[in-house]
Amino acid sequence: MAKVLYVICDGLGDLPLKGKTPLSAARKPNIDALAKGGQCGLLHTIAYGVIPGSDTAHLALFGYDPCEYYRGRGTFEALGAGIALKHGDVAFRCNFATVDASHRIIDRRAGRLKDFKPLEAAVNEIKLQDCTLKFVSTVEHRGVLVLSAHSASPSFPSGKGPLSPRRESGQNGAPFSQQEKAGGPGLSSNVSNTDPHEAGVPIQRCVPLDKSPEAEKTALLVNEFSRRALSLLRRHPFNLKLERQKARPANALLLRGAASYVHVESIEKKYGLKAACIAGGALYKGVARYVGMAVPHVPGATGRADTDLDAKAKAALSMLKSRDLVIVHVKATDSFGHDGDFAGKTRMIERVDAMVGALRKGAPDAYILLTGDHSTPVALKVHSFEPVPVLVNGPLVRVDTVSRFDELSCAAGSLGHLTGLELFRVVVGLAGKGKLYGN
Ligand SMILES: [Zn+2]
Repeated sequence: MAKVLYVICDGLGDLPLKGKTPLSAARKPNIDALAKGGQCGLLHTIAYGVIPGSDTAHLALFGYDPCEYYRGRGTFEALGAGIALKHGDVAFRCNFATVDASHRIIDRRAGRLKDFKPLEAAVNEIKLQDCTLKFVSTVEHRGVLVLSAHSASPSFPSGKGPLSPRRESGQNGAPFSQQEKAGGPGLSSNVSNTDPHEAGVPIQRCVPLDKSPEAEKTALLVNEFSRRALSLLRRHPFNLKLERQKARPANALLLRGAASYVHVESIEKKYGLKAACIAGGALYKGVARYVGMAVPHVPGATGRADTDLDAKAKAALSMLKSRDLVIVHVKATDSFGHDGDFAGKTRMIERVDAMVGALRKGAPDAYILLTGDHSTPVALKVHSFEPVPVLVNGPLVRVDTVSRFDELSCAAGSLGHLTGLELFRVVVGLAGKGKLYGN
């Protein structure tokens, strides 16, 4: 069985500035050699013309249709932060914020760039009725909150993706099984945010977005949590000290992006692939864990421009010994796109080139795929709908005439235009796990 290394550079695709994109400007001998000796194409991760979010894009790239499997970002962030979730848990993304005496928001990020880890234990002391909570302070002002009902009878609103078919979960062949109903109502992600996304207005009350007892209960719990967080954070020594230093205290927690955790069939069950993911960013680790991939901790993999790509290549090659598929995710290409930094994105691609060289050297017989999850053009500083170049190199591919890996050259490749789910079928096929359709 062949092994597959699948490199995903976040936000890789771009638009030309003075005739060049970061990909066409970068010096990348290893990647261009793989393109020359392989086949290329263009990837429309979700569908033609759709602007992918990083979460939905990765579900598609991992072979899970976001229309069916996307339930909001909170659960991915929670899994990425190392929180174990059980079916029916509801996860929120959180911000530490600074509010005034009437709970009006002064700063949605509480002064930013501070480490608020010292507040984590106190938040976890909050007790709510018929529910346990777990809070993790992640990076800077960000965190994740997970609510778990003691009595599990979860309610799952239908998928949140832009292309979501209107349906009730658990029906129409949906992949989610409802757990047995027992005790009182469980929790629902169909509740509003407490984060108003702007300063100058008060923290919002959480309201249920449907009439289910689960949504009502969840909204009550969230409001109780907000109230208790306000009172304990206001008096916390960490914040009192910040106030004495005339710095902005983290005296409130804003919640957004509620998502219900539903257990999904693992990638091994679904596709017969033992898979691992090497990533620094919590979101990507979270999506990988969601689909049952192994996600080893790689010291030095930060998800930022200072990430250690040598360490990631070594970890990937070591995981490949016992896996069919190893995904290597690089975040910083996207971050440079968001910053509008052409030179930075170009340099990052050159560093990825060295990593790809090390991967090819360490696994000469493996298939190597290289692509991105979407375009983040430096001229736009946001995700865009434009497709991303993709290459496949390995022992048995139909080598085409493309000799450079960039947005224009790859349009002439023999892979043509394909979606993330279609590309994943290619991965399954290369790994020798494809199934005959029919007889
Ligand atoms: Zn992305």
